[in-house]
Amino acid sequence: MNILLTGGLGFIGSHTAVVLAQQGHQVVILDNLCNSQMEVLANLESITGKKLRFYEADIREGLALRKILSDNQIEAVMHFAGLKSVAESAQDPLKYYDNNVCGTINLIEAMQAEKINKFIFSSSATVYGVPQYLPYDEDHPLEPINTYGKTKLQVEEILQDLVKSDPSWSVVALRYFNPVGAHESGLIGESPKGVPNNLMPYICQVASGKLPHLNIFGDDYETKDGTGERDYIHVMDLAEGHVAALNFVNQHPGFHAINLGTGVSYSVYDLIGAFEQAANSMIVRKVQPRRSGDLAIYYAKADKAKNLLGWQAKRDLQVMCKSGWNFHKQKS
Ligand code: NAD
Ligand code: UDP
Repeated sequence: MNILLTGGLGFIGSHTAVVLAQQGHQVVILDNLCNSQMEVLANLESITGKKLRFYEADIREGLALRKILSDNQIEAVMHFAGLKSVAESAQDPLKYYDNNVCGTINLIEAMQAEKINKFIFSSSATVYGVPQYLPYDEDHPLEPINTYGKTKLQVEEILQDLVKSDPSWSVVALRYFNPVGAHESGLIGESPKGVPNNLMPYICQVASGKLPHLNIFGDDYETKDGTGERDYIHVMDLAEGHVAALNFVNQHPGFHAINLGTGVSYSVYDLIGAFEQAANSMIVRKVQPRRSGDLAIYYAKADKAKNLLGWQAKRDLQVMCKSGWNFHKQKS
């Protein structure tokens, strides 16, 4: 199929581009490079051995979008483009509503004009908010506790209304848990700009000596060892989940929200331990107060993805740490 990946040079989009191209799909990438680099494109071409069509464009540019959709006879869109920092979304909410919500409306309007109605959206486990029970299943109440999460929920609601108004649309909102790791080649991975917010990229920078120590944000949670627990998922598993979702949208009109997680939670200490083994180095750490806005523990109920998409995560914590570290070493 001819598939447009918005934000396709970013962390998750680039890994999905590899899997799609390797399965014979025609991948077209659109990205405004606000959080990615052009060199990712060359690396994608070297991994896949294929030339990929790329447009430096913004999802908020309606006319450009329509031309890209029609020139490439796009049949389905995977929408990764978005801003994702919880902290920044608190400081600059309008930037987040503009990019994530207005940008998505603009994109689906362009799709509607070009009569394209298959859509896979990058949603997030942050839509659930404070757990009322765990694991989160897709019917858990949706009460995001930060602006970033609200933008994801608003888009899901817009998509649901769209499907109600025109049942020929086929939409899957994939609610990702905590993506980590990198492609086995070490050519693509996660390269946050500035000091990382997330645990795995931060640990990589401590291991390489770029940062002096890891701050552990709280060791007094009601979890197995007092540190926060999350459902870490290998980005290649996530990428394969998108291919499964593509097969599904081809046959199932309607709106479907589906968790992509492993169903297992690991603590900060678990991740440090696995990383130390994978990288064969010690991670200097200091326990600090809790980070504001953090939840103690959450993880996915992953059954819906298994039942509807025939997909489940395969790669374990060791593979996540090894591949993440391999990418970081090659890059630095
Ligand atoms: P990323 O920042 O690496 O990739 C996003 C890409 O979108 C970047 O290349 C950026 O340049 C591009 N982009 C942003 N705004 C754009 C715009 N207006 N027009 C065109 N391109 C634009 O992020 P990622 O980790 O790959 O995340 C992809 C999607 O998944 C995002 O929507 C994010 O909110 C969502 N998500 C990510 C995580 C995570 O932890 N990484 C978890 C849940 C959901
Ligand atoms: N965390 C930490 N130190 C860091 C970054 C994160 O202790 O430098 C903890 C954080 O408190 C949480 C877990 O690691 O319990 C995962 O955090 P991350 O920011 O990677 O993901 P999210 O909070 O978005 O789930």
